Amino acid sequence: MRADVAVTSGRPRPLTTFVLKVHSRCDLACDHCYIYEHADQTWRQQPRSMAPETVRAAAYAIADHAAAHALPSVSVVLHGGEPLLVGPARLREILLRLREAIAPVTVLDLRMQSNGVSLTPEICAILAEFQVSVGISLDGDRVANDLHRRYASGASSYDRVLSALRLLRRPEHRQIYGGLLCTVDLRADPVRVYEALRRQEPPRVDFLLPHASWDSPPSGATGTAYADWLGKIYDQWLAEGRPVPIRLFDSLRSLAAGGPSLTEWVGLDSVDLAVIETDGSWEQVDSLKTAYHGAAATGLDVFSHTADDAARHPMIAQRRAGIAALCATCRACPVVQQCGGGLLAHRYRSGSGFDNPSVYCADLKELITNVSGVPVADSGVGVDAAGQSGLAGEVLDDLGSGYGAAGVLDTLHRAELSMSRMLVAQVYEDAAGDGVPGAELAEAVQSAWHLVGHLDTAAPHGLRRVLGHPYVRSWATGCLRRLPSNGPGRALGPGYLANVAAAAAIAADVPAELPVPVYDGALHLPTIGTMSLGGWDTDTVLVATRPGGFSVRVGGADHSVGLDVDEPASGWQPTRRLDFAGRSLLLDDTDPFRHGLGWPPADRMSPIEADRLQSLLAEARESVLNEVPRYATSLDVTMRTVTPLAADPSGRLRSGSKRDAYGAVGIGPVPDAESLAVLLVHEVQHLKFGALVDVYDLVDHSRRAFARVGWRPDPRPIEAALTGTYAHLAVADIWRVRAARDAVARENFLRYRGWVSSALAQVEASGALTEDGRRFVVAMRETVESWGVGNRVTR
Ligand code: SF4
Ligand code: SF4
Repeated sequence: MRADVAVTSGRPRPLTTFVLKVHSRCDLACDHCYIYEHADQTWRQQPRSMAPETVRAAAYAIADHAAAHALPSVSVVLHGGEPLLVGPARLREILLRLREAIAPVTVLDLRMQSNGVSLTPEICAILAEFQVSVGISLDGDRVANDLHRRYASGASSYDRVLSALRLLRRPEHRQIYGGLLCTVDLRADPVRVYEALRRQEPPRVDFLLPHASWDSPPSGATGTAYADWLGKIYDQWLAEGRPVPIRLFDSLRSLAAGGPSLTEWVGLDSVDLAVIETDGSWEQVDSLKTAYHGAAATGLDVFSHTADDAARHPMIAQRRAGIAALCATCRACPVVQQCGGGLLAHRYRSGSGFDNPSVYCADLKELITNVSGVPVADSGVGVDAAGQSGLAGEVLDDLGSGYGAAGVLDTLHRAELSMSRMLVAQVYEDAAGDGVPGAELAEAVQSAWHLVGHLDTAAPHGLRRVLGHPYVRSWATGCLRRLPSNGPGRALGPGYLANVAAAAAIAADVPAELPVPVYDGALHLPTIGTMSLGGWDTDTVLVATRPGGFSVRVGGADHSVGLDVDEPASGWQPTRRLDFAGRSLLLDDTDPFRHGLGWPPADRMSPIEADRLQSLLAEARESVLNEVPRYATSLDVTMRTVTPLAADPSGRLRSGSKRDAYGAVGIGPVPDAESLAVLLVHEVQHLKFGALVDVYDLVDHSRRAFARVGWRPDPRPIEAALTGTYAHLAVADIWRVRAARDAVARENFLRYRGWVSSALAQVEASGALTEDGRRFVVAMRETVESWGVGNRVTR
């Protein structure tokens, strides 16, 4: 895993759901039970039921956590084993203790997951008194349920469960009927299972895939058997007009529309849950018990450790780290936002631990495709039966050649967008966890984050446009690295989230009004523009969207701004676009995060200068298209933003890019389009390489190795040498095509080819390349070797 972000060491983000194992044994003996039948057998050491002092300690640990984090509510799920085995008197006492401790500080949402066989009218009355929502496990009709859900004697539990459901359907208990939980078995008929569940009139249905890992794969499954099984239910459910909420399908539909997930099974939403075992130990989510013995343990307990301690546990924190916690294959996957890599337990494999895609990868991908209606094509990513990147090798071959097919480049682009979203979310989470200094600023960050959440559902395209802006990522990365900013931390720190949210609302034309920080006398709205506030001495202005623009309240008056109106007198400088060859690039010459492109940025361009740059870019692209057409694809897919750089007094041509601004290219003054073509191709190679190493580890960073390269006097670390070599490979390719023209071009080609060949040899000999890195370098070398000196080679 790569992560160019600082690890949060402050207060963790709070936990909001606590699974309380009030009884560790069960009256059923289901053979698919992950608690008793899978790798983790620690249940054997647990006391049978939770002692009163443990309940009390757990209740106060939860209450303290809720109070410390000012949580509006917490959920406590009574679980087991079988929680009803504590009996009615003890159950009442436990609920009383929880209510006494927690209800005074927050809203207590009580739930229970049960097999139902011991449910009685007396227990129902207690559950109703404490408003406990009860979920019952039922695997379908009698045939399906009897496949697993039996007593130790082998007798069926079906009739008892149906009696329990009859009780829950009574009018006086209806409000505590939480829903049904069904574990999929491929041997059962899916539509019959669905119809049997529907007959129980549940308020909600959850389908679970049987817990499995790469060490213990799901039995009897080939290809996308589980997706196909669920797909039959999905089709029926849709045809019936979705008569009952099915959490898995509802989550996938929500995610496809850019909304949140409703379950930890899919999506990248944080799982804010911890388990309290019967003996008071803090544990991770139960499904991990399928991975290996002791997998869910933390070594912490409610007597000596707070819920904050549990939240800080590395494995619990990892489950909440979103895309950064996923393996390289998942990070590059086009459906990672919807899938989220599947359940953590399902990624486990001896040797590589959890750094794998889900063992249900093929099913998840198929299900997502089915539900979203968008085929996962040209992704360049797949997973074979061994859990390794299937087409990953082809991605490395394709990009290693120097070029890159449109589909592969598009996948990289989407992976970078995911990364940016994750970084922005991390900024908010760090700010919320650490506490942003100043109540007013903390409030601004909160309201900005709420607006981002609203836009994610209401106008995902507008939000995507802003979150995908290279300099938004630069800001987020700087925040997470705790980089000292040039200006006031207030404006360029987490508070800038308000600038991002306001820009996204304006881009999407969604009504919003929020306070936005001012930096250096100007209001910066990424991708939208910059407004100089002249003599107004203020550090915050109120921004409100208006049809076709927005208004800024400063000095007690509202100043209306039309988005495309470039009026120097008003102080408003919109971010302009450069349109050519069917492309539209942002000309960003005002963003405060456009620095660091290897040379200082220029001041804002005049309209005449901007027109000239647009013409030059059009000609340069034409030149690339004619000379090295496959690099034109890279330009079209990868370059999204252009930032003018200052002139170098020495006369040297300047261009630049930076790792934390994927999609942005800096360009200094250039004499002609042919020179610009070389600079663009060079910088776009750097962008492609940066995106590639965000998802593939090409270099083993534990090996301190260096290479001497022709274009720099100092020895370079291997990854730096490799990115330079990749950029010069493309430059050599252009000069190779031009070599037939004159001696200077031929000399240039030979020089660049020599640099690339020499650097590749050193990088290969360094011993610091990973297997993926070796494959990538071999593809680069093959390209170099395919060149005939001075001859144009058609590839
Ligand atoms: S009812 Fe639940 S806890 Fe009990 S054996 Fe079956 S799956 Fe396991
Ligand atoms: S690679 Fe597989 S497991 Fe990973 S995100 Fe994509 S579909 Fe999910």
